[in-house]
Amino acid sequence: MEDKLQTLLKLMVTYNPNKKDIELVKKAYDIANTLHSDVKRESGEPYISHPLEVATILAQVQADASTIIAALLHDTLEDTWLRKEELAYIFGEYVADLVDGVTNINKAKFSSKKEADATNTRKLLQGMFKDVRVLYIKLADRLHNMRTLDYKKPEKRKKKAKETLELFVPLASYLGCHEIKNELQTLSFKYYLPEEYENYLMRQKKLMEENKEKIENMVQVLNKTLDENYIPHEIYYREKNLYEVYLQEKNHEELNEIHDLIAIKIKVLDINDCYKVLGLVHSLYRSYDNKFKDYITKPKKNKYQSLHTTVFVDRTLVQVQIRTYQMDRVANLGLTAYWNDRNVIMNDELHAADFFKSLVEINSIALEDTDFVEDIYREVLTKNVYVYTRSGEYVELPEGSTGIDFAYKINPEIGNHLQSLIVNGQFEKIEYVLKNLDIVTAISTDDGHPYEDWLGKCKTKMAKTKIKKYLEEN
Ligand code: MN
Repeated sequence: MEDKLQTLLKLMVTYNPNKKDIELVKKAYDIANTLHSDVKRESGEPYISHPLEVATILAQVQADASTIIAALLHDTLEDTWLRKEELAYIFGEYVADLVDGVTNINKAKFSSKKEADATNTRKLLQGMFKDVRVLYIKLADRLHNMRTLDYKKPEKRKKKAKETLELFVPLASYLGCHEIKNELQTLSFKYYLPEEYENYLMRQKKLMEENKEKIENMVQVLNKTLDENYIPHEIYYREKNLYEVYLQEKNHEELNEIHDLIAIKIKVLDINDCYKVLGLVHSLYRSYDNKFKDYITKPKKNKYQSLHTTVFVDRTLVQVQIRTYQMDRVANLGLTAYWNDRNVIMNDELHAADFFKSLVEINSIALEDTDFVEDIYREVLTKNVYVYTRSGEYVELPEGSTGIDFAYKINPEIGNHLQSLIVNGQFEKIEYVLKNLDIVTAISTDDGHPYEDWLGKCKTKMAKTKIKKYLEEN
């Protein structure tokens, strides 16, 4: 394990040379190592290998020292005799809170299928977004567990993979960790739908083989041309993650073009060079109309910046993305690209709204499911309440909504005949103000109908409109 610790420390020093921090990380390792010493992972490795790997994943996204320390200790409160007070005594309240936060997420069990959907992610996020680092540790924890899923029983693998797809992939997207998201998604695909995964893997391999020469040739030509123009750069190409390809095809999109499977990325030092490279690419390859996007002059409403162009290489379309190293960092790491920027990371002085705004902005880069992000944005900023129907469907309403709003939202007919409510097993008046996670049943009767005073007892536009309409007509 010593070598793994050295890897972690070396990585950390590259962005945080603070000697005191390094000493604390070593201390955290020693304590965790001692506490877990009699336990082995299913892989047969000493347990400490797990927290070490989790910390290393976080060091790769340049997490701050407290996060690394908490990552090393993340299983100690749950699995050993160590208590939070002791942890706080040694490493301070802050680290203790982080570890405690991770432990609490672990305790949250997602019993039903419905609960494990995006709603849960939202709950998770809303409950914990004060400590965004907790979520990063949890993500890294899940990533390492997914990497070592082979050691679990087959049934367990599927279950974990599904949960990862439903909960942790959106979470990673949400936090803007594109790299982690991709790896989680690919691993989940592999274990959740093994046959489809194999199938896609084969096809991707085949397509890559057929086009490999073309792509490598293109990279070579670009390298040479950029060198001749004295533009320092790095070029690489990356395969699209298979699960996304799978989804794309499930949506009946055609999938023969290589640009669906790979993109060439060119990283350069500054913006000037981005445009120089663009000019060079276009002088070498004919560009495909309508596909050029300049997210540098006109960044998306988020911070994402890059030039995208699609060009013909022979008769194949290839997408080329050109950006600076810093832009690439934001694109890959999302929020963590700003890890050391205290203005972005949540702290007590910072408003939730600002924090969310930056998350949402950064996120919409990586995230195709922009609805998800926008939903969260809206929900958090407008303060909605979530209640459940008796059958477990969740209903989302603005804060201050009452039973009347609930009934109309479920079904206008129920609204128009509303008589009373049952909330968490208790009878309530229809003007009852809903609270988060209430379980609500609207009771309607044939002769029930809206009264004038209902207008003052509801919040949503929809309910008010329906009530007015009823009053006018009757
Ligand atoms: Mn763990």
